[in-house]
Amino acid sequence: MSYKSGRHFLQIPGPSNVPDRILRAMDYPTMDHRGPDFGEIGLEILAGVKKVFGTDNHVIVYPSSGTGAWEAALVNTLSPGDKVLMFETGQFATLWQELAEKHGLEVEFIDGDWRHGVDAGLVEEKLKADSGHSIKAVCMVHNETSTGVASNIATARQAMDAAGHPALLMIDTISSLGSLDYRHDDWGVDITVSCSQKGLMLPPGLGFNAISDKALEMSKSNGFTRSYWDWQAMITNNASGFFPYTPATNLLYGLREALKMLDEEGLENVFARHDRMAEATRRAIQAWGLEVLCQNPDEYSSVLTAVMVPDGVDADHVRGVILDNFDMSLGTGLGKVKGKVFRIGHLGDFNELTLMGTLAGVEMGLSLADVPHQKGGVDKAMAYLTETAGGAS
Ligand SMILES: *Cc1c(COP(=O)(O)O)cnc(C)c1O
Repeated sequence: MSYKSGRHFLQIPGPSNVPDRILRAMDYPTMDHRGPDFGEIGLEILAGVKKVFGTDNHVIVYPSSGTGAWEAALVNTLSPGDKVLMFETGQFATLWQELAEKHGLEVEFIDGDWRHGVDAGLVEEKLKADSGHSIKAVCMVHNETSTGVASNIATARQAMDAAGHPALLMIDTISSLGSLDYRHDDWGVDITVSCSQKGLMLPPGLGFNAISDKALEMSKSNGFTRSYWDWQAMITNNASGFFPYTPATNLLYGLREALKMLDEEGLENVFARHDRMAEATRRAIQAWGLEVLCQNPDEYSSVLTAVMVPDGVDADHVRGVILDNFDMSLGTGLGKVKGKVFRIGHLGDFNELTLMGTLAGVEMGLSLADVPHQKGGVDKAMAYLTETAGGAS
């Protein structure tokens, strides 16, 4: 591999670019995770991370990927054979469903077209029909990273309340936390699953479960065995800032810095920035004459946009041309939309000029790959970013 001058553009929707401040914060000797200094850091991080989830309750931090945090949510609260309701919003919802089935859970998986989010009406209908309360959990992906569709979690919660059903609500916020507005407590979520490498701007390796009192109560008598994932051992040790086994120490240094950065910018501003970058992206796509996979404007994701390529074009060929010529990685189509879409990540440590570089790379790539399209997408995005610029003029 020969040296490529300039920065690689990593515009996949996670792992996202890790800012220099976080890299510097992690570049520090690994310390004794049983020593007094670590306990202080642990307490600071465990308190700080609650704010991002919008909770006053426990947040468990695992040395794991997001998939591990999915598993932790299920094995800490449910029992083999329990019924759970899940929604096929895309590839990540499908993977969570497969994980649940491997554990012997009975999943009712509601079909989806990969272009829409969770239908709250259907949530209410399914729960109302379950008068014996055999459904123990309703699981949804907040931001479906394979499609660029964000489901409305507050509305889904209202639907569960309208049905008067006691099932736990479990939400995957793996690609939304720190990028989209999210409120674990206010929205009555029982378990929020997340991880480090998307909106939190960290490398992969931390998994999270934010938990409600109700979920914690269920964990005291549920039927699954677990050891590594056990919440109780975590909560006991976390009280003094420690962990039951070796935590991902250097990632925690990074998390401490990420929390500072989100706090300095202000979460509201972080969310507004993501919304603005996403809108500029969609304007470019529209000008190119291409279609966004998400069909409902209320569900457009501000984290990523999945772009459909015209029939007869292989989206992965376009991605390959862009990588070879301009050293930019775009997200591949996953599962059912393989070859049909490419995904532009506009999340995390990202600003106007990162977006302009990204969109310019796409527009040039569309030409080089002979994709039928119109020019001028970058211009439309520039016009929007200029109109909505917030700095002093
Ligand atoms: C990335 C992602 C996952 C998987 O996370 P891993 O860290 O790869 O295990 C799950 N759900 C969503 C929505 C994701 O974006």
